[in-house]
Amino acid sequence: MPQRVACDSCGEVLYDGKNLKPPDEIILSHNGKCPKCSKKLSFVLINVEVRPAEEVTR
Ligand SMILES: [Zn+2]
Repeated sequence: MPQRVACDSCGEVLYDGKNLKPPDEIILSHNGKCPKCSKKLSFVLINVEVRPAEEVTR
């Protein structure tokens, strides 16, 4: 499941990747604030595409 983390204030994408990352790790990697608007980060998770696993019925 792809994960996208965006700034709560300006929508700047802080992390976008295929692997899940702990939100606090992402926040720490940005020194706790948004690089764009300098807002203190609180994490917001946006799951862009959540596709259910294809069911194999058999
Ligand atoms: Zn921001």
